[in-house]
Amino acid sequence: MNVILLGPPGAGKGTLAHLVKQSTSMAHLSTGDILREEMKNETDLGKEAKNFVESGQLVPDELVTKLIAHRVTSNGQDSDGFMFDGFPRTTGQAEDLTGILEGIKKPLDYALYMESTLPVIIQRLSGRRVCRKCGHVYHIKNRPPKKEGICDQCDGELYQRADDNEETIRKRMDVYLQNTKPIIEYYERQGMLRKLDGDKEAEDLLNELMKLFDADGKLNNH
Ligand code: AMP
Repeated sequence: MNVILLGPPGAGKGTLAHLVKQSTSMAHLSTGDILREEMKNETDLGKEAKNFVESGQLVPDELVTKLIAHRVTSNGQDSDGFMFDGFPRTTGQAEDLTGILEGIKKPLDYALYMESTLPVIIQRLSGRRVCRKCGHVYHIKNRPPKKEGICDQCDGELYQRADDNEETIRKRMDVYLQNTKPIIEYYERQGMLRKLDGDKEAEDLLNELMKLFDADGKLNNH
């Protein structure tokens, strides 16, 4: 099964993706995580992406599509499908993804749209902490780790993303409204869009999702 998680920054796409991954055998592909890894390793691509990412702008389509195409074609045969998180973000990327999935003959099953409101987004992102080692996501108030600054899962160090400050969050929201909202219509026209309330807790959304997948007979292979 292939699923896209759509929605503004802070809607909880990454948190939900981690929970779905624990309940199914789907691979989680987050372009944001991949880009941050490339930046950490100071690869050519990481260096090219750094300014865009840190200022809250979109990295050019060509770069991110190449990253995704490579991972999908190299893992496509082994995995039980993909959860795309933060990709696509433009209609160009959405069209590219349709082509990539046609290439591996595993079409998209759902585009899940997580709607969320600005006050909730700012509160979530400004308190967000991420594990440097495994990428697990925490919140200093809503979802704190057992030991401050340390990941419960792997003992890795927690850090605050450079783009999780109020000014860059507002910029990312503008970019989202301008570029990403139109792709919601793209998937609505194809009958693939399902709406989720992104203001709800991730565990509640996971329950809703599992019921949806089960009712549609999509969990048979997991
Ligand atoms: P995220 O972790 O999904 O919030 O992404 C963090 C940043 O990485 C974004 O603000 C963009 O600068 C960049 N990025 C992630 N995914 C994409 C994408 N699909 N297209 C362009 N830029 C992206």
